Amino acid sequence: MTDLPLLRFPGLARFPGLEHAVSTRLGGVSVGPFASLNLSTSVGDDRANVEVNTQRLAAALGVPREHFTTTWLVHSNRVVRADASHRGQMVAQADGVITDVPGLPLIQRYGDCAPILVYDPRRHAVGLAHAGWRGTVVGMATALVEAMAAAFGSDPADMAALVGPAIGPCCYEVGPEVAEAVRRAMPDAPHVLIQPAQVARGAAASNGHRPHLDLWEANRWQLAQAGVGQVEVAGLCTCCRRDLFFSHRGDGGRTGRFGAIAMLRR
Ligand SMILES: [Zn+2]
Repeated sequence: MTDLPLLRFPGLARFPGLEHAVSTRLGGVSVGPFASLNLSTSVGDDRANVEVNTQRLAAALGVPREHFTTTWLVHSNRVVRADASHRGQMVAQADGVITDVPGLPLIQRYGDCAPILVYDPRRHAVGLAHAGWRGTVVGMATALVEAMAAAFGSDPADMAALVGPAIGPCCYEVGPEVAEAVRRAMPDAPHVLIQPAQVARGAAASNGHRPHLDLWEANRWQLAQAGVGQVEVAGLCTCCRRDLFFSHRGDGGRTGRFGAIAMLRR
């Protein structure tokens, strides 16, 4: 068995009812910009290699490869509910997916956008989402919490959430149109935009003239505002840590995707 590292985070790992993991770019067979554990077939990588990578991930998690259940990411705030009939399927075009079916491994793919995992130990339900700046502006994290409340009767206060590895405030320089969209969408959280003078020196991708978006904090803030009891921020920048992750920004657009997985234990 090859060595395939999986990251787990203490805020979610303490729940025996939940399996969660974030894969890295290590442990796969893809080459070049997709080296090595690329999980996406839509970025130009060899399909056979992606399949081997996916099988390795499934083996490392101890789940049947054909059970991975996912969505077609469209940078929206749409959330779909996956039931047993969706096992192994691409459920729909959506950036959030929720389920209360044990043993159903939800997976989404990332290369800078933020993975958001939400677990409700009381209702034994889980949600997984994907939020870049677009998803953040349309309130993906908020929509995920609301969808779990509507579908499962979940009380946000019972929930524990993770904002996983994503491009950090150190590296996520944005243009004026993105900054304005964030300002309009989150008028009560101006701190998620970091002005040029405040950006730490030596940040990897700063020209010193544009604001940086704190995607971690924007999503943490949305989850907290929605009433989520506990939110953990991984604090791992995909762009700084290209030794561990794929980064669309850091790799100039040609790169792979790592995965975040959430599954209720039986
Ligand atoms: Zn960074």
